[in-house]
Amino acid sequence: MNINQNYLNLKDSYLFSLVAKKVNEYKAQHPEKEVIRLGIGDVTRPLVPAVVAAMGTAVLEMGDAATFRGYGEEQGCAFLRQALCGYYAGKGVALADSEVFISDGAKSDLGNILDIFDTDNTVLIPDPVYPVYVDTNMMAGRQIVFVNGNTENNFLPMPDRQVKADIIYLCSPNNPTGAVYSKEQLANWVTYALEQNAVILFDSAYEIFVQDEKLPTSIYQIEGAKKCAIEFCSLSKTAGFTGVRCGYTVVPHDLVRHNTPLNKLWLRRQTTKFNGVPYIVQRGAEAVFSSEGFAQIKENIAYYLHNAQLIADTLRKLDIWFVGGENSPYIWLKCPSGLSSWDFFDHLLTNAGIVGTPGVGFGANGEGFFRLTAFGDRENVQKAMTKLRGLS
Ligand code: PLP
Repeated sequence: MNINQNYLNLKDSYLFSLVAKKVNEYKAQHPEKEVIRLGIGDVTRPLVPAVVAAMGTAVLEMGDAATFRGYGEEQGCAFLRQALCGYYAGKGVALADSEVFISDGAKSDLGNILDIFDTDNTVLIPDPVYPVYVDTNMMAGRQIVFVNGNTENNFLPMPDRQVKADIIYLCSPNNPTGAVYSKEQLANWVTYALEQNAVILFDSAYEIFVQDEKLPTSIYQIEGAKKCAIEFCSLSKTAGFTGVRCGYTVVPHDLVRHNTPLNKLWLRRQTTKFNGVPYIVQRGAEAVFSSEGFAQIKENIAYYLHNAQLIADTLRKLDIWFVGGENSPYIWLKCPSGLSSWDFFDHLLTNAGIVGTPGVGFGANGEGFFRLTAFGDRENVQKAMTKLRGLS
């Protein structure tokens, strides 16, 4: 018996455990001091009433022999896939419901999609990045080429025609940087992917935060993208489903490689290894896209975006370089005075009781940068910003 040796090449995901360890040590040494967490990547606002009501009704249906349901449609309930097609139509993107796959979240799909690609493929990944893209490819032993995000490109790296890639990861609005690609920039990536015959894996988990109508919220708003891109999204951040679990992946029928529609391969993969999302959850997800549910979730998004604006305004006043904070719940700042990510973490915790996330945890290009998030409570954000202003 041999194990998958590639797992031994994975770096320990020490980032959040080290953050927790340092915070616990600080709290033990200074029990009287308040600690405000601006590092959390999880939502804090509860599910909206329309979602709760829809799931409640679904629970009752499941408890009645006349309306009980067992295994559902493997690709996801038609009512939810149709609701999503309606949502995309509102973005100017026409989808067939057979192009939409419901899942238990974007993280699973982003990892599982690799089943349909050869391990010989070269993968292009921006740095800094959501670590799942790197680790899932390392597990399969794929060769990874990084494309650098930095202050010169505002953490929106663009393709280098000299670099050959088969699979390309893009995330916009980005985690961890909060940067958002323009339509022109995404069009450049689509052209590059088509030239290379590559496939873009487009992560739009934070699309709901985009307020600027000129910015794209789906890669399919770019001409040609249906021939080269798979899109992953989730209700985790859109509607507070991080604990409920529901996401979706779009594999267009036009996406064909080696005379094989990738939609067919993904359907085969999912129907073999996945048995669907609970009916109750899918009814809750459907309610997100009702006019009542959507208005309610938009209030939560506005709440988070206002937090982001408070953080961004403070950084502007302090003359600290940052991206994000608009059209995104993330703010990515350059550590002042040339501090390293961890030194700035210690400085903020010790002197202001504020906890953020060291940028170096998201890749080598994150060294010297720091991530703050807008998912906290308003009062805490305000308190933290007052402390931050008092620091300098
Ligand atoms: N993609 C990005 C960029 C994320 O930041 C996250 C979660 O933090 C996910 C995907 C995963 O979301 P889900 O909860 O749907 O698995």
